[in-house]
This record gives sequence, C-alpha cells and structure tokens, in this order.
Amino acid sequence: MFGKISEKYMRLTRMLLAIAWLVLIISMFYDPISFKFTSTDQFFGPHASCFQFQGQCLPTSPYRMGARIFWGMIVPLVIFLLLVFGHENWRRICPLSFFSQLPKAFGIQGKRIVKKNSWLDRNVPYLQFCFLFLGLCIRLLFVNSDRLLLGWFLILTIFLAIGVGFLFNGKFWCHYICPMGPVQEVFGEPGGLFTSQTHVAPKGITQSMCRKIDAQGREKSACVGCKSPCIDIDAEAAYWANIRKPHRKFLIYGYVGLIVGFYGYFGLYSGNWNFLSAGVWNETNQLATLMNPGFFIAGKAIGIPKLLAVPLTLSISTVAVLSFGLWIEKLVKRFQKHREILSPEYWQSRAFAIAKFVAFNLLFFMGIYPTLDYFSPLIRLFTILMAILASSAWLIKIWKLSPSQSRRKVPSLRATNASLLSEV
Ligand code: SF4
Repeated sequence: MFGKISEKYMRLTRMLLAIAWLVLIISMFYDPISFKFTSTDQFFGPHASCFQFQGQCLPTSPYRMGARIFWGMIVPLVIFLLLVFGHENWRRICPLSFFSQLPKAFGIQGKRIVKKNSWLDRNVPYLQFCFLFLGLCIRLLFVNSDRLLLGWFLILTIFLAIGVGFLFNGKFWCHYICPMGPVQEVFGEPGGLFTSQTHVAPKGITQSMCRKIDAQGREKSACVGCKSPCIDIDAEAAYWANIRKPHRKFLIYGYVGLIVGFYGYFGLYSGNWNFLSAGVWNETNQLATLMNPGFFIAGKAIGIPKLLAVPLTLSISTVAVLSFGLWIEKLVKRFQKHREILSPEYWQSRAFAIAKFVAFNLLFFMGIYPTLDYFSPLIRLFTILMAILASSAWLIKIWKLSPSQSRRKVPSLRATNASLLSEV
C-alpha cells in the first residue's frame, strides 16, 4: 500500500520525522515541560506514590518524558506499523535511514558495495543479531530511562549512520548495521497485513525500493544492487530465498528469546512484575546502578552486578528459546516424516509464522501493555483487541502463503534484481 505513494511525499514525511526526532533528542537535554505530566495526579503519572523495587517501596517523583516517549511509545508504534503495513512504510520514512542517505543527497556517497557471497554478505544476519543484542544491553544498562545518556547515544548513532552512508553505496546502514534491521525482517517478511504486491507495482518500482526523481519529475529506480535478495525490492521473494538458511532459525527463534529476556529482566531486576509500569522511568541515573545487584529473586538480592546480569539474562534467554524452537521443530518433523504433506519451505514458513506471532504477542503483553496504565480500562481493552486481531490476521495471511504461489506471482528474484540494475 505504501509502495505506491509518491517519493516526493515520502521524502517530505521522512524529513519531517527526522526534524521531529531531532526535537525529541534536544528535549533529552532541555525539557522544561514534560515533568509536569508525570506527577501522581497527572495523566502520565503513576497511580501510587511509591513503586516496588528490590523489597522496598521507593517514592515516585516527576521525571522528564523524553526516554519514555522514545522507548515506550515510538518504538512500539514502529513495530505495530511493521506488522500492519509491512517493512515498506517504515523503510521509506525512517529518520535514521534519512540521515544515512544524507551523503547521497549531497552527492558524496561512497561507491563501495558488499560483494555477493563475501564473508560479510554470508554472515550479516549473525552480525546484525549481535548488534541488536548489544543494543538491548546498552538500553537496559545505560539508556532506557537516563535521558541524557539516551540523547548522546542517539546523536552518536546518527553520526554513525551518516558516516556509513558516506563510505558505502545503497542502503548499507539499513541492511548491514542498523539494530532494527533484524526486527524489520522478523515482522516485515514475507509482508505486513497490507504490504503492496510487487507484481502489480507501477513502472517496476516496488515496495521500499531505492528510487529517485528525474529532471522531468518522474520516479525511477535508484537501485545499485547493494543487497541480494533485497527486502526493499520484494520482501516475500527475499523471505522464500532465505527460508532454509540456518541464520533464519537463529534470527527468529533467537529474537523471541531476546524479547523474553529483555522484558523478563525488569522483573528479575526489581523483584516484581509492576516495575515496568511504574518505577522504571524513575531510574534516571543509570550509571549509578551498574554495580548494584542485578537480580532480586524470591525476596533476596543476588550479588551479580547489573553490568553482568543484563548480558547474562539475554544470553540465557536467547540460547534457551533458540534451543526450544529447534527441539520443537525436530519433534514435529519426526511426526511429519511419515506424512510427507508439506514441502520443507512451506513447513518452515508455518513454524516461523507461529514464532513471529508469539514474538509479537510477547512484546505486547510483556512490554507494551504494562506501560499503558495511563489509559482508561476501555482504551486498554481496545489495544488488547487490536493487538490480538492484527497479529491473528497476520498469522492467517502468512499461514496460507506458499513458495510456489510466490514464484507464480513474481519473476525470480535474480531476474528482478538484474532488471533493476540494468536501469541504473
Ligand atoms: S533497492 Fe537496491 S540499492 Fe536499494 S537497498 Fe535494495 S538492493 Fe540496495
């Protein structure tokens, strides 16, 4: 659906979002307003005057909302958009992508692209997963609620994205570095609920493919072949092309593990499951907590510093869920061996669809729903219904997809990329 919107409007949207993001970053350093909304009697304030943390009830105090707006509102909204509208909407309006493409806008973008089958090309899924893992550790340890550190972290990320855009051609930042890349692949492949179909794309410009506007104002492909298969050209084709590769299992089951570990850690750290809804945003000096006990379990603080407890939790949860996913796959395969009903790709796609459905609902019920207590019960009920409805409709859509159906719809991916490249 978003693939058809003119690049002129998308550019404007990207730019406006980038400006809004810069304003939010500035608010991390100077914000004379938002703390007025976070005292106990205000809309975003907690319902109690103290919050449970490691066996004590600590007083809540008004805080500035920059970090909460970024992590508690914008990031979940992006994930919801990915599921509903597919990767193509976010890839075309992402402010960080906008910054990484600034060198291109000024004609100073590098010419390097990653060679097909090079080490980087083969290992990028693992590498990007490591970046996501690292990003989540940084968030839990330094920048989740400490808005000054978050401000500097975001500024650094923007400079990094611009630097990468200066050195490499195409969307190197999005495909090879951005920690949100794996999340986009999990929820954006093979497509969102309303992803546009590539075989009916006007003028062969599909989904979130790189494009330019020529002197006559016509939209043309600007693809330089920086990635093949490319999710921006055809998310469904990229999905089927990679589906049997071992890194897909690692990415999808590992991602479910990261969600469990990430949101579970708030409970393991504070000793209760309400910390995320009330107290977490009050921890505004995260540097001071790094060497404090990282776990509080069954009423006892465990002497592992938070600095170690966070990567430990995320590692254990990733390995545990990944192993569980592989074990379940083996069990089902053993059962299915005698039946020979589904092709391996079709079978794998259904296994991934269930894992992604679980991932989305874990994300919603463990991480997003507990932070929505400022809404009335009716609105919260509505968000639950929306989350369940959207993820169920998405699951049904993916469940029915098959590789043969996809092959009939689109020419082979190689042909698609080759024809695009010939237009450059
Ligand atoms: S459309 Fe082409 S240039 Fe753009 S990200 Fe995909 S492969 Fe790279």
